[in-house]
Amino acid sequence: MAASTARALPPVAAGAPIPRVGRSGSTRDGRTAVARSRATATTRARATDTATPAVTTPASDAEWAASSPLEFAPSLKDAASCDALAVVGKKACVLDEGLLAHLPDAVQTHVRLLARDIKPGSEGAKRTTSVVLFDEEGDTLGTERGTTTLELTVIVLPDASELSRHNAPSASHALTKCLAGVKAPRFGKTLGLVCALADASEAVAIAAAVARAFPTYSAKSTDARNTESGRGAVAVKGTVKVALHDASRESHDENTKNGNKSSVDSFDGDAELKAAKAVAGGVRLAARIVDTPPAFMDPDALVAEALSVCAELNKSVLFASDENGKEKASRALVVATTLREKELIAGGFGGIVGVGAAAARDGREPALVHLCHKGDGDEDGDKGRSTALVGKGITFDTGGLQIKGKAGMPGMKTDLGGAAAALGAFYAAVLLDPDGSKRGGGDLHCVLCVAENAVGPSSFRPDDVLLCKSGRSVEINNTDAEGRLVLADGVAFASGEDVDADDVVDIATLTGAQMVATGRFFAGIVSDSEEFEKECVVAGRKSGDLTHPLPYAPEFFSREFGSAVADMRNSVKDRSNAQASCAGQFVANHLAKRGNENGDADKAKVRKPKRWLHVDIAGPSTEKGSGRGTGFGVALLVELLNARGQR
Ligand SMILES: [Zn+2]
Repeated sequence: MAASTARALPPVAAGAPIPRVGRSGSTRDGRTAVARSRATATTRARATDTATPAVTTPASDAEWAASSPLEFAPSLKDAASCDALAVVGKKACVLDEGLLAHLPDAVQTHVRLLARDIKPGSEGAKRTTSVVLFDEEGDTLGTERGTTTLELTVIVLPDASELSRHNAPSASHALTKCLAGVKAPRFGKTLGLVCALADASEAVAIAAAVARAFPTYSAKSTDARNTESGRGAVAVKGTVKVALHDASRESHDENTKNGNKSSVDSFDGDAELKAAKAVAGGVRLAARIVDTPPAFMDPDALVAEALSVCAELNKSVLFASDENGKEKASRALVVATTLREKELIAGGFGGIVGVGAAAARDGREPALVHLCHKGDGDEDGDKGRSTALVGKGITFDTGGLQIKGKAGMPGMKTDLGGAAAALGAFYAAVLLDPDGSKRGGGDLHCVLCVAENAVGPSSFRPDDVLLCKSGRSVEINNTDAEGRLVLADGVAFASGEDVDADDVVDIATLTGAQMVATGRFFAGIVSDSEEFEKECVVAGRKSGDLTHPLPYAPEFFSREFGSAVADMRNSVKDRSNAQASCAGQFVANHLAKRGNENGDADKAKVRKPKRWLHVDIAGPSTEKGSGRGTGFGVALLVELLNARGQR
């Protein structure tokens, strides 16, 4: 009987016309959102004051990035010639002669004085001073008064001895914290950020920390706000120029030992620099998606972000492949498929359709976005493991009919942090690895489960039964436990015949219980594979996106979801029985049955036993206090993928 109850659902019957209010011409491919924001940009006059040019509601990630530029400078000298300068790193790295040699003499002296004096503790510490600069002939630089003043900040990060074994050796957490007081420069000004690395392998973690310290989203208006033309314009900031310096490399440099200032000025870790740039871009993209208000980052807009990432990647891949011939380009293209409500109903995605039903009535239809990047395989044409990154994209979570309270609802625009991280990671991973060789040659998929959990006459109700993509029915006992419902459909799609990924990684701001279990700095992870779990912990320490395992034990946790009328309920009976693990277990209950579990003799499946990893980022995806998105998960997932090719 449970099955027949379920068959009548999802609650919006297939083919039923869905009345739409509020937005005419809503399309299924997300173009409406882009068109609308572009229209807004053109109807609002731009600021006429050329001293403070402004963009109104940027329409693309590139435009947003341009409103708060973050560049990787080609050399230390380039970063050191900015209007303000920050030198950051562990004490020995900041005091490295190979680095200091490239800074102006007066700056060198002050960096030495400040860095020696700073006691970083376990949190890192900083000092700021003003340095008076002269040019080489003793003449004036820039001003008629004979001097120019540089604001210099020195940030000293904790040494390894101050860090516990669960922390990242790069101490990147301390960098973001110390950079919190370093403001992005005003328009027309530049800030140089010289990052002294102990080792080139720290580049990604440090770049991610810098990226989250200088986010792109802002609705702060310009000074022209009182004029009609400047009204609502978003202020454009000056450029942050980041230069990386590998202290371990310079210490082997003969020139440096001899005190010769001609030692190499630019960062030599070409691969690490590329990775740092790509990950920083992914982190800022993810953080912006999280920071954008829900009226703008609605399901259509999130779909549009994914499609624009796809277009951006294809543009760069085609460009990169031109030299190597056409067939390479055709292999490396990213293919996007978007299912909107009608297709989701037809495809049996009852979880996503149920959660998104109320908003869909108002024209904000749920979606499943699938981006696919084919790997080229290794030299023997052997494809490595394929991976699907599945992200929870609840664009706003009211809690549904079991509505959140007035204190619990603010901040719920961030409930798409998992989808944002999956998309940012996919962007960076493909950009870095156009043929997939770094990840072992396998295919990479990104699956975004997009819905707004709204309140309305067509909201899904407690006691409703949804039939999920997996074919399993779920009795709703908590409409605020909606993330696992959309993820259930996402992992069923990713592990089933549609995608059939070897490794399924779901990432989500899933439970408040994650914060109780592993806190704000560590994501809680659950996996059915000890090997995969270890890979994730290692990737976390390397990338600075820390993770800590939670128990995986279906025999203890599955029974929490018992239902009299359906295959399971969506929320636990006992809230003090490892809730964060249980939520992961609910998602795992919807994975497609796997060859290795069934004793299936299919060789391919036996050779590549399937694995599942669940990453709950409820705590670390936003910064406590500011509530800003951190882009957490981007660096982690890129590192997890890249490590695969290195084995
Ligand atoms: Zn919720």
